[in-house]
Amino acid sequence: MASHTHFQYLVASDWSECLSPNGPFDPLIYTWPHLEADLTRIFSAYTSNEISLSRAVGEIKSLLPAELAEEEMDTFLREKFAAYTGLSQVITWCLEHGIAFMINSTGSMGYFQRALARGFLPRIPLLSAHPFLRYAPRGTDPERTFELLEIEDKGTNTHAALHALGIPAHRTAVVGDSGGDGPHFSWAAENGALRVGINTKASLESYCATRGIEINAHLGLSYQPGQPRDQEAEARTDLTELCTVLRRELLP
Ligand SMILES: [Mg+2]
Repeated sequence: MASHTHFQYLVASDWSECLSPNGPFDPLIYTWPHLEADLTRIFSAYTSNEISLSRAVGEIKSLLPAELAEEEMDTFLREKFAAYTGLSQVITWCLEHGIAFMINSTGSMGYFQRALARGFLPRIPLLSAHPFLRYAPRGTDPERTFELLEIEDKGTNTHAALHALGIPAHRTAVVGDSGGDGPHFSWAAENGALRVGINTKASLESYCATRGIEINAHLGLSYQPGQPRDQEAEARTDLTELCTVLRRELLP
């Protein structure tokens, strides 16, 4: 991959329900379906802020019969990997326009390593993800990876990526969908970075509203409190609209 020195901007985006319908623990549920109820309960306790991410991961790991092997992750990806329309075009467009693309997700390092190795995802220069599952390094791994252990690490890791690339924070766009992205949006607001919601959940809207944080642009659906999710409509999300937003709001 080309040197980082040509990057002048950064996009740091959540993955689950933002760029993809895949959830962070879907590979575990797919491999061990008898654990679905327990894994879902723990994950819900985390997303509703009852327990921390590190506690959720600890409880989940204690339930697993083994570490998920590379071959099992590959089987999951082959059967279930999905991303919303246009993801490859968006990543390619960003890299061609001097915009470093960073996935900043509670998903595991291992999920992204295998998705990259198997060509489900185009090469990305930067990844912030959870190390609860991590495979041996591969040539397809992102050049820089950042460990995300708590949800607050999203902002910390975006900040570290900017520092590593020598990009000022105001030339950054943060992208997310749910309340789990709230601290990342807080970091963005404090540092003059753009905030973009994709299929924005009421949990992110209310997190931002109560803190006076404006969401600068919305793509796809925007949910009202109590409104049920429309996964069919979310599946029709066209991510190439993100290029339009970035061209208008981020590039000079
Ligand atoms: Mg999400």
